[in-house]
Amino acid sequence: MSDLAPYIPPSDEDLRRLIRFSVDDGRIWLAGQRMLLIHAAALAALRRELIMSLGARYTRQYFMRVGFTAGHSDAALAKTVRHDSSFFEKFMVGPQLHMLEGAVRVRILSFTADEVSGRFYAEVRWDHSWEAEMHRRDFGLSEEPVCWMLLGYASGYTSAFMGRRILYRETACVGCGHDFCHIIGKPLEEWNDEQEDGAILFDRTYAPPQVSIPPRVQTARPDPPSELIGRSPAFRAALEKLHAVAPTRVTVLLTGETGVGKERFARLLHKLSPRAENAFVAINCAAIPFDLIEAELFGVERGAYTGAHTSRPGRFELAHGGTLFLDEIGDLPLPAQAKLLRVLQESKIERLGGGRCRKVDVRIVAATNRNLEEAVREGRFRADLFYRLNVVPIHIPPLRERGEDIQALAFALLQRFATLHDRPVPTLTDRACHALLHYDWPGNVRELENLIERLVITTPAGMAIDASDLFPNLAFSRDGAIVTSHGLLSSEGSNKPSSSLVDELIANGLTLETLERKLIEEAIQRARGNLSAAARLLGLTRPQLSYRWEKKYAKRKEKSYSSRRNPSSSMTEA
Ligand SMILES: [Zn+2]
Repeated sequence: MSDLAPYIPPSDEDLRRLIRFSVDDGRIWLAGQRMLLIHAAALAALRRELIMSLGARYTRQYFMRVGFTAGHSDAALAKTVRHDSSFFEKFMVGPQLHMLEGAVRVRILSFTADEVSGRFYAEVRWDHSWEAEMHRRDFGLSEEPVCWMLLGYASGYTSAFMGRRILYRETACVGCGHDFCHIIGKPLEEWNDEQEDGAILFDRTYAPPQVSIPPRVQTARPDPPSELIGRSPAFRAALEKLHAVAPTRVTVLLTGETGVGKERFARLLHKLSPRAENAFVAINCAAIPFDLIEAELFGVERGAYTGAHTSRPGRFELAHGGTLFLDEIGDLPLPAQAKLLRVLQESKIERLGGGRCRKVDVRIVAATNRNLEEAVREGRFRADLFYRLNVVPIHIPPLRERGEDIQALAFALLQRFATLHDRPVPTLTDRACHALLHYDWPGNVRELENLIERLVITTPAGMAIDASDLFPNLAFSRDGAIVTSHGLLSSEGSNKPSSSLVDELIANGLTLETLERKLIEEAIQRARGNLSAAARLLGLTRPQLSYRWEKKYAKRKEKSYSSRRNPSSSMTEA
């Protein structure tokens, strides 16, 4: 799927040159067409409001037609800018402009077209569709594909380019939870057009719905009241399993990494069970010293050991009639495991140092972030206890595998902490949302919560949270082209992340001399040409650096250094 060798697009340099930012008079041009740089969020707001008032069906029609117009306009450029190129290269003007315009990343998977006969078939992969991204943010997962404007664009462009009616359809869409959008384009007649897209796009007499159409107010599905927000398949599967077993008294084993919310699952299970009126007692087996864990679990009678001055019940007795949550069960010492097993088998406990058996009615929910099967193999966990606990295992997925939930969670947490701390609700920039999705979340939901709470407290009112506020220690590439002072898009001077020093060295042949030279260059660049500051970075004195730099490399490097750097950043002395 990723090997696209036959369909490598030509350079888009010619197209970049068509985009002009006429900054002084407030206009942007794509060749002769006036363009707008509009916030995706603004267009998304329009889209959302149309969906809420007219319903998805009519909004889809409007957006397809808007996209169609844009695609149609761009097709005019294809044959003029690439008049000497191959048919495929000319065709690629549309997909490449669509990318430059920021709509989506386009990759051609299959392409068959013939100018003379009008035959056309294309399969395309879309990534980063703005529509899918925004739709999911506003409405969650959809059952139908949602890239309406993009589809309209592809249809409008190709139809104008081929001079016949070509219609595209999405066969997979990120909006439905797929990893990428997949579209197929072919002549209208070859489709079974049950959605009447042909009429919507190509029929000049098509009338958009009038106001007389009863407005259909669609409300986004409400989020669950608890913090257990999530629509990703793995998370939903876990939640559904939990709902299914909650009314029973079966033992449940929750597995998942630290911070995924195991205790919340356990509490919800309790709340949904017939025991909800009785106690929910939690104990973290890893947090209690080995020699005290049995007393904690089963209770003690006075005089059971030195220091046991009074009798007290253990957690089992406290949880009588309710639920006992045994967190980090994998850390329970072996002797305690043996006792626990007996309690589970007999539903009776005996306090430490006391002969009387007490009947207990407790539902057990255990949790672990360890691989208990492995612990069993290694003899650290009793196999019989494992089988006793592992009656219904529920795996809670880590946050990084819940891509579709991260934004919804972040927004819910922003609301919650803003209310809690009586602060305004900060917004997240699109780049921040993107960063949330691409971060690894080793601490899972707990890490996200801590992060959002801190940001709610520290973000000044009216400020949006950007990617660098979320993860100040991570480098965010602002890769891409910049607008030069002449109003042109240019890759030069763009803040592309420079390849690492090591990569560069390996590419240039790794010698001690080049290493030293590269290090000095890097330090001087970072110090913006200030030699004293560069020397400090390298742990050298200013004369030591100056000796190494000027005597050994300055002459050799002068040309390439000054050609790469802005002349104004010439070396200065501190
Ligand atoms: Zn899509």
